[in-house]
Amino acid sequence: AKAAGKRQWCHYQPALQAGLVERHELNENLDTAIAESSFKLYYQPIVDLASGALVAFEALVRWPHDRRGMVLPDEFIALAEESGQIVPLGAWVLERAAQEAAAWHRLSAAPRLAQGLPPLRVNVNVSARQFRDAGFVDVVRGAVRTSGITPDVLVLELTESVLMRRDERVHTDMRTLSELGVGIAIDDFGTGYSSLSYLREFPISILKIDKSFIDGLGLSQQQYALVEGITRIADTLGVQVIAEGIENTEQRDLLAAMGCPLGQGYLFAHPLTPDQARRLITDHSPL
Ligand code: C2E
Ligand code: CA
Ligand code: CA
Ligand code: CA
Repeated sequence: AKAAGKRQWCHYQPALQAGLVERHELNENLDTAIAESSFKLYYQPIVDLASGALVAFEALVRWPHDRRGMVLPDEFIALAEESGQIVPLGAWVLERAAQEAAAWHRLSAAPRLAQGLPPLRVNVNVSARQFRDAGFVDVVRGAVRTSGITPDVLVLELTESVLMRRDERVHTDMRTLSELGVGIAIDDFGTGYSSLSYLREFPISILKIDKSFIDGLGLSQQQYALVEGITRIADTLGVQVIAEGIENTEQRDLLAAMGCPLGQGYLFAHPLTPDQARRLITDHSPL
């Protein structure tokens, strides 16, 4: 039995090591990818639910990898947060997204103005670790200045994990960013420790209702009432609402009927390559 146990140990150890090696390798590859800026940003449309007009794009990062193909953020963002690599990676995302938004304006500012539409905004995801970094506000300032966009074109999507730490730094930085003129959104609202008091305590301009609430819209009265209530409170406070993960017309119609202004999801478009996004912009047709 002892010998068998030993053999078993010998048998399992390589597998265990492979996990660590793999992890180490991913981290090293991430370093190289950051140094060479070899990530890609995809852009998912955010639309006006009443008219179908394009309002903004959310920038979503992908990692083209030799062996793994296009790696999705769920597979490397957590790793990059743990190692701190999210700080340079997040800075790259901010700079790239701001530059792309500047290109959208060259393509569409004049025709949009003629249609009475404001400039297209770009939403950028910011992780808690990245927000806490001492250089974060300067990175945002730099991305705005270098790209030439006006600050109100940029929206930072923060999760509640940022707001949960109610320390002075978070408040000061939020105020600075808000005074700079960039928009601040609460992402995945309704998951985690959501509290409507965040809307009072921080300069929040947008609230994104998590997909899990949208999924149940047509199925449960409670879910419907909850989304409607959040939308109404947000509206009263002057906070714009984006419904996430809209996959069918029933969900869109229910949301539009309750007065939810904006939405995002596969019904309208999947995340697009920069070329696809630019083509959509120059199309000028509603989604
Ligand atoms: P998120 O911020 O909640 O982004 C929305 C995710 O839902 C995206 O997945 C998007 O492709 C997906 N999605 C959009 N519409 C639908 C829909 O109708 N149905 C379904 N099933 N899914 C939909 P993605 O691109 O894989 O990103 C996953 C998460 O990774 C994001 O969730 C965000 O938390 C994080 N992430 C992405 N890019 C960045 C980044 O540049 N920085 C940071 N810190 N995090 C990022
Ligand atoms: Ca987001
Ligand atoms: Ca989200
Ligand atoms: Ca999410």
